[in-house]
Amino acid sequence: MTPIHVIGGGLAGSEAAWQIAQAGVPVVLHEMRPHRGTPAHQTGDLAELVCSNSFRADDWEANAVGLLHAEMRRAGSLIMTCGDAHQTPAGGALAVDRVGFAQAVTARLEAAANVTIAREEVAAIPAAWGSVVVATGPLTSPALTETILSLTGEDQLAFFDAIAPIVHLDSIDMGVAWRQSRYDKPGPGGDAAAYINCPLDRDQYEGFIDAILAGPKSEFREWENVPYFDGCLPIEVMAERGRETPRHGPMKPVGLSNAHRPDVKPWAVVQLRQDNALGTLWNMVGFQTKLKHAAQTEIFRTIPGMERAVFARLGGLHRNTFINSPRLLDAQLRLKADPRLRFAGQITGVEGYVESAAIGLAAGRLAAAERLGAALDPPPPTTALGALIGHITGGHLSGGSFQPMNINYGLLPPIEAPAARGRGERGRARKRAVGVRALADIDRWLGADARAAAE
Ligand SMILES: Cc1cc2nc3c(=O)[nH]c(=O)nc-3n(C[C@H](O)[C@H](O)[C@H](O)COP(=O)(O)OP(=O)(O)OC[C@H]3O[C@@H](n4cnc5c(N)ncnc54)[C@H](O)[C@@H]3O)c2cc1C
Repeated sequence: MTPIHVIGGGLAGSEAAWQIAQAGVPVVLHEMRPHRGTPAHQTGDLAELVCSNSFRADDWEANAVGLLHAEMRRAGSLIMTCGDAHQTPAGGALAVDRVGFAQAVTARLEAAANVTIAREEVAAIPAAWGSVVVATGPLTSPALTETILSLTGEDQLAFFDAIAPIVHLDSIDMGVAWRQSRYDKPGPGGDAAAYINCPLDRDQYEGFIDAILAGPKSEFREWENVPYFDGCLPIEVMAERGRETPRHGPMKPVGLSNAHRPDVKPWAVVQLRQDNALGTLWNMVGFQTKLKHAAQTEIFRTIPGMERAVFARLGGLHRNTFINSPRLLDAQLRLKADPRLRFAGQITGVEGYVESAAIGLAAGRLAAAERLGAALDPPPPTTALGALIGHITGGHLSGGSFQPMNINYGLLPPIEAPAARGRGERGRARKRAVGVRALADIDRWLGADARAAAE
């Protein structure tokens, strides 16, 4: 059988190669380190963790990334197996000894049947490779970046992410905020109430500007030194250019009338736009920021209507290479323009070690099933894995502003909460119910996968 080629031996590529080999399909894993480095990696090990050593919360009943862990363990994930074997104490989180973890992943792949590791940079993708998984991550080598650009087009590949915070809809106080598009203009979807608006009076605006100017910011590392595009200036940089600048930019109040107090003209308005097809997640328009995460939570909760905001993700700006997956990839993670290529990991627009490995896991299984001539659907949208794939291959809504995403409950279809007394208890019961449904559905999908491979 001709092999599947996986380019990049990071979190996603190592997991993809493992899953392919476990399905009995030969795989060549191409990793350019140690011959050619990246600005962040330090070793030649596969699956090196470039920064923190945490896989985050490990509780499938209460946390979406914990649910992803649980699903991946059921799928025989190499990354989770080695993570579990090299745990360090971290309370409810799964943290790992980074050296032991990466060495274990490397050793398991070096010893695995069906796996060949080629220590080389892939600059161009040979036409003879019939099935390829591209998993070269946020620091894809410049030569391969050029190749990807030629496949996707200039405007479909980003070089850094400029992320505005994303808020869970049910945490916004709609007794203060209201739905309206500026000048009641219907958008392409025909909706004149496409935005959620939060009003600020003059004192609130001045206090808000003081807070974002004074708040602690993360600094770029030297290699992260990317120029700001005018279209995605951090909100605090905008305020540094002039206290009134945000009020003439993303916070302008024109064309909007407060539905709760039509007689009072807001001095400024924070707008949120729907971010996913389910309508559960809303992003703060124009609020990309380098404020530290704790400061973002504190300051953005002073915005009227957002006092109890729960953030699905906070803002940031990083060096990152990722493609416009919702436009470019099909539900099987294949490039529509060249379906022999699949993409996996951070380059698909997911964010985080665990999410990157999870997409590698799915890409590996889908590629192996295809090579074996078996039809395998992507994981169901009720699973954390399926929800993540659904988001990057179609669930995300905001067209040109696709930005990397962590797994979170807002990506999964809502479920009726079992009866419980308090608000907190209801929330916990709902998360548990989502987890129970997801684990049952991932088991069914894994069963289907095993059946497809056996036929
Ligand atoms: C500086 C930095 C810090 C981060 N910190 C965190 C964090 O603390 N926690 C977190 O959850 N996420 C973090 N991330 C985000 C992300 O989760 C990680 O980058 C993660 O490693 C992504 O997994 P991946 O497999 O997609 O890419 P990677 O793990 O980066 O793997 C890609 C691999 O491809 C190789 N490669 C690149 N180009 C080629 C080529 N042309 N040919 C052959 N091989 C190639 C690279 O050497 C690398 O080994 C960070 C990202 C960066 C850039």
